[in-house]
Amino acid sequence: MKRIILLLISVIALGCTGKAQETNNKVYPISKTNAEWKKALTSKQFYILRQAGTERPFSSPLNKVYAEGAFHCAGCNSALYESDHKFDSGTGWPSFDRAVEGNVEKDVDYNLGYARTELVCATCGGHLGHVFNDGPRETTGMRHCINGDALIFIPKK
Ligand SMILES: [Zn+2]
Repeated sequence: MKRIILLLISVIALGCTGKAQETNNKVYPISKTNAEWKKALTSKQFYILRQAGTERPFSSPLNKVYAEGAFHCAGCNSALYESDHKFDSGTGWPSFDRAVEGNVEKDVDYNLGYARTELVCATCGGHLGHVFNDGPRETTGMRHCINGDALIFIPKK
């Protein structure tokens, strides 16, 4: 029995390593070294996008922006969210019920010890936030909880 458990543990450990490497090796259309990203981004943007950080709730000025326009990736300028899909979740983070099709990817992270679905920019791999299934029921039911520091707002002309 002990042997089986040990075997299982090593399989799980190997599984985790394999996954981590896979993620690290994924090549995005826009890729830069950490040093290059550090130069291109503010320290807050670097912390969110490249170190999967989370900003303090209610800290982003974009939280209250509901003007017509699009929210682009602060790392690579890819259009990620439309203002039409933004809603006030009351959480203190910009929230959307859906992303621009194909421009945001899902990944699973275990940073808090349980599985959460992480959202990353499909163009540069930058961390954006997480998706939860407690969004508006009348639309998609999904809540994309996004760090404002990962976004740039481009008003519609
Ligand atoms: Zn990006």
